[in-house]
Amino acid sequence: MSGITIALSKGRIFDETLPLLEAAGIVPAENPESSRKLIIGTNQPDVRLVIVRASDTPTYVQYGAADLGIAGKDVLLEHGGEGLYQPLDLEIARCRLSVATREGFDYETASRPGGRIRVATKYIESAKAHFAEKGVHVDLIKLYGSMELAPLVGLADAIVDLVSTGGTLRANGLVEVEHIRDISSRLVVNQASLKLKHERIQPMLDAFAGAIGSKENA
Ligand code: ATP
Ligand code: MG
Repeated sequence: MSGITIALSKGRIFDETLPLLEAAGIVPAENPESSRKLIIGTNQPDVRLVIVRASDTPTYVQYGAADLGIAGKDVLLEHGGEGLYQPLDLEIARCRLSVATREGFDYETASRPGGRIRVATKYIESAKAHFAEKGVHVDLIKLYGSMELAPLVGLADAIVDLVSTGGTLRANGLVEVEHIRDISSRLVVNQASLKLKHERIQPMLDAFAGAIGSKENA
């Protein structure tokens, strides 16, 4: 396949990527929200989009099934980034990775060095690294969604999850007790594609980089 395949997830990443694609002269032929197609053409005959689950984007790019992709740093930290070149922070889909507990839970004491805590999360690798760095023993429970429920029903003391406005936490009587890191989405490029298709890919990277800059100046 000599064309360029770009892996994107539906929802906020797709929506926030549209202006960047447009800056690179790429306009999707269809909207993946209304189309059931998983492969979507563009106005550029040699560029197509593949619509994947957000957490699968690095995998498609790692194996070269897509040349480029856009993935949240949260997803990249879990994946590990093997085989991926991460040239650009696109500064889209911004949020933060945080620890939250039920109101009134004594996180201060539980998270002292040598302490022990039960944490439910989708972000096992990030949570493991965070508590290891603090010297806290952590029992991790893997969940795939609705993390906020876990502390309410006694499954866990705390959750590690993405927070943007904090509205979902508040609505469930949870409080953000620790900010782990800021999260935004990155462009990821297959390392072999970057070499073999450099002439086609580099101008796209330059256009994306320019579009981030101009957004900041706007
Ligand atoms: P799914 O919704 O299919 O279970 P997902 O939650 O990983 O998967 P999205 O909700 O589309 O997929 O999130 C994609 C990326 O957007 C995340 O990996 C993260 O980087 C970022 N993100 C997630 N939630 C928020 C949020 N509330 N505000 C801003 N960015 C977010
Ligand atoms: Mg989601």
